[in-house]
Amino acid sequence: KRAKVSGRAELYQFQDFAIARAQFGMETELRRAIDNGELRLAYQPICDLSSGRVVSFEALARWTDRDGREHSPTNFIAVAEESGLIVPLGRWAIEEAARTLVRWDAAALTPCKIRMAVNLSAIQLQRDAIAPVLQAVLDSSGLSGDRFTLELTESAIVTDPDGIADTMHALKALGTTLAMDDFGTGYSNLAYLQKLPIDILKIDRSFVTGMLADRDKVSIVRAILSLAQALGMRTTAEGVETHELAQTLAALGCTYGQGYFYARPLEADAAYAMVQSGSAP
Ligand code: C2E
Ligand code: CA
Ligand code: CA
Ligand code: CA
Repeated sequence: KRAKVSGRAELYQFQDFAIARAQFGMETELRRAIDNGELRLAYQPICDLSSGRVVSFEALARWTDRDGREHSPTNFIAVAEESGLIVPLGRWAIEEAARTLVRWDAAALTPCKIRMAVNLSAIQLQRDAIAPVLQAVLDSSGLSGDRFTLELTESAIVTDPDGIADTMHALKALGTTLAMDDFGTGYSNLAYLQKLPIDILKIDRSFVTGMLADRDKVSIVRAILSLAQALGMRTTAEGVETHELAQTLAALGCTYGQGYFYARPLEADAAYAMVQSGSAP
């Protein structure tokens, strides 16, 4: 029996080693990808649920490597967070999002006030002075801070509540909108909601998908909506895949919707076409 157990342990060790080696390989490639410009951003519209109008885009990192393989953001963002590469990757994402806004502004016939939402990881918030980074981007691009929404997750608050409060106030001082991403999936207590300058709660897709056939999910979504309303915050529902969901969420009082019903994450040009037409196809 003992031999069997140790055989297993060795197997696990071997698997750990294999995973570690694969991650290291990906880390090396990702580092090169950042330097060589293999990353790009896809832009997914966030729409006003009652009018259907596009109000902003979420910038989502995409990586097609030299062999033409498309890597899953969930995987390479995790590798970036573990390796610290999220710091240069996150800076690049802010800079790239700003370049896109500047391009769109230049192409627009009427002043374009569309916003861009950029994801900030907890690790990046701890390790990088993100407010000065954003300030530098605003200075060099000429964009005003109110063109940016920054999406943070609860994990940032759990790991460093005091540090995060200072950072969030510094970001607010630049004019940005702050959104709490994947709301409802974290494990922190809710006291932070009244202490931190959060403008928008993003209701995680797991509560939205399938909610029309699940009373419990509807109850959770309702609870989040009334919490947000009581605290004077707006709400965005993720994973809005059907017209019926958009209608139901609008009726429940949710402010914005994001999901395949409106559009999948788009290349910059296709996203800009939506900016011009004003609404989802
Ligand atoms: P997220 O911030 O929750 O982003 C939304 C994810 O849901 C995106 O996945 C998007 O493609 C997907 N999605 C949007 N609408 C729908 C829908 O209607 N149905 C379904 N099934 N999915 C939908 P994606 O692009 O694979 O990104 C995964 C995660 O990777 C993001 O989740 C975010 O946490 C992270 N991520 C992506 N880009 C960045 C980045 O530049 N920085 C950081 N820190 N994280 C990023
Ligand atoms: Ca997000
Ligand atoms: Ca999200
Ligand atoms: Ca999510």
